[in-house]
Amino acid sequence: MTRIAAHRGGTLEYGDSTPQGFAATATMALEQVEFDVHPTSDGATIVHHDATLDRTTDRTGAIAALTEAEVRAATINFGAGAHPLTLAELCAVFRPSPVDLRCEIKPDEHGRPYTNFVPRVIATLGEQAMLERTTFTSFLLETLDELAPLTMQPRLWLVSPPVLRQLGIGAVIELAQARSIGEIGLHVDDADRTVKTALEQAGLIFGCWAAHSVEQMEKALALEAHVFTTDRPSLAIEVRNRRLEGLSE
Ligand code: MG
Repeated sequence: MTRIAAHRGGTLEYGDSTPQGFAATATMALEQVEFDVHPTSDGATIVHHDATLDRTTDRTGAIAALTEAEVRAATINFGAGAHPLTLAELCAVFRPSPVDLRCEIKPDEHGRPYTNFVPRVIATLGEQAMLERTTFTSFLLETLDELAPLTMQPRLWLVSPPVLRQLGIGAVIELAQARSIGEIGLHVDDADRTVKTALEQAGLIFGCWAAHSVEQMEKALALEAHVFTTDRPSLAIEVRNRRLEGLSE
C-alpha cells in the first residue's frame, strides 16, 4: 500500500508547520509526517519550512541568526496563534503515535548546508527515542553524504524537476547508487511508469512528493509509489480509501 506523508503537518489543512497540524497528523490513518528542520543561533533545532521567519510568521529574520526564544516568540500565520516547535517537542507529539518521521534537513537561506547541524539532528532524534522511526530527506546530495556515516536510517534524495531534466533518470540512478542512497522522491508531475521502472530495476525505492490535488494523489496511487507527500492529508486518506474499496470490489 502506498504510504501517505502529511507534508509540513498538512499545510493546506492546518497552516505551514503548525503544532495543530502535527497534532492532527499524529491521530490520522497515515504513515508519515514530513517536516523540515533548521538550527537556531544557540543550538536548538526548530521545525519550520523556510530558513527565515518572514513568509509564514509575524516575525522576520533567519532562524540560524536568532535564539530559540526569539524563534519561539513568532506566531505562525493561519496557525491559530501557535508558535514554531522544537524538534524535541515534535518528537513528543509523535512518540505515542504510529505515524513515523520524515525529516528534511534544510540548507540555510542561501541554499548552503548548515555547519555541524546533521549530527545534532541525529542526536536529538536519538535522545527522543525517535531515530529508528525516521527517514531522512534532502534535495542536497552534500547533506545526504553527511548523513551516511552517522546513521543507518533510510536516506531519500528529493530530486527537483530541473535536476531531473538536467541529469536524466540514468544519471540520477548512478549518483544515488554511488552514495548508497536507497530512495528517490520525484515531483509527482515528473513521475511515470518509465521512471518508476528504471528506479526499481536499479534497486531504488520510488516515491513522489507534492501530491496536493486528487488527480496527483490518484496518479501516485496508480503508480504504486512507495510513499507520497501531500499538503492535504485528510483528503489523501479519503482518496486512498476510495481506491482500496474500488480494488476490493
Ligand atoms: Mg520538506
